Amino acid sequence: MQIPFESKPAIKDWDFVVLLFYKYVRIDDPQAFLEAHKALCERLSIKGRFVVAHEGLNGTCEGTPDAVNEYVKELTSDPRFADMHIKYSKGTGDSFPKLKIRVRPEIVSLGLGENDVDPNAVTGIHLKPEELHAWFENNEDFTIIDMRNDYEHAVGHFKNSVLPKLKNFRDLPKELPSLEHLKDKKIITVCTGGVRCEKASGYLKTQGFNDVYQLDGGMVSYMEQFPGKNFNGAMYSFDGRNVIDYDQGNHEIVGRCKRCNEKTENYVDCKNDSCHGQFLYCEDCLETHGKMYCMDRCDMHLNPLVRFFRRLKEKVVH
Ligand SMILES: [Zn+2]
Ligand SMILES: [Zn+2]
Repeated sequence: MQIPFESKPAIKDWDFVVLLFYKYVRIDDPQAFLEAHKALCERLSIKGRFVVAHEGLNGTCEGTPDAVNEYVKELTSDPRFADMHIKYSKGTGDSFPKLKIRVRPEIVSLGLGENDVDPNAVTGIHLKPEELHAWFENNEDFTIIDMRNDYEHAVGHFKNSVLPKLKNFRDLPKELPSLEHLKDKKIITVCTGGVRCEKASGYLKTQGFNDVYQLDGGMVSYMEQFPGKNFNGAMYSFDGRNVIDYDQGNHEIVGRCKRCNEKTENYVDCKNDSCHGQFLYCEDCLETHGKMYCMDRCDMHLNPLVRFFRRLKEKVVH
């Protein structure tokens, strides 16, 4: 359900507003949609990232309150997006370096190919933030499965949540055996804004999980209503803000520096420019040792000779 901009009085006083949203809805001509949407964003000086596919739209962007208000009005005047749930949070003015819109086969990639899940046909039951909060309060028997990547989980996550060790969301099918014991339990999938859970919860249902829920609107919506509640640490964000501190510093830092293991919430980019990996790395280490390689997503940290043979072997195998 779309919450009208006017009913969120604080937003008007922010300098910049970040929006987060998605909708699984048929788009017949993604390229034409892209062109029109690009023109709209450029006219309103809105920067951000969007993925358009036949299956829908996934986006996050930033603008001034006036620009964002106009943008939401235009976007939701399209009946396909009229009831889209848009999440608002306070921006910085440089949350996104530019406007990036792409047409892709899927709005989030689970890499299921022909076994891809259509969330309009099969998906977990949407559980509202207040309902999840009540589950916590009443000590219900349930397990939270965190569908985010490992580096997002590292800086903060729901209490007692299970992380299926996803280096990437596409690893989910591969990590399924580690969740086998939860097939007959009440489970709820969570991610930042909900888009990944639409597919992930549906996929779990097709794999024989019997009691599957998903957090409606994701962690962002939960945090809006219950800042920092039942949550350890802060929330990772994909935009320039990196880490969102919803409870204004009242949380315990759970993130650990990859190098020295001291507590930190400081993210850095991998030294390998083409890797785009991010990880926690404290300011002291950064100052003393400079940037380093991520060690998870790329092999640049390896001895050049080891790297050479490893790549050679990969070529032979595939
Ligand atoms: Zn360190
Ligand atoms: Zn890397």
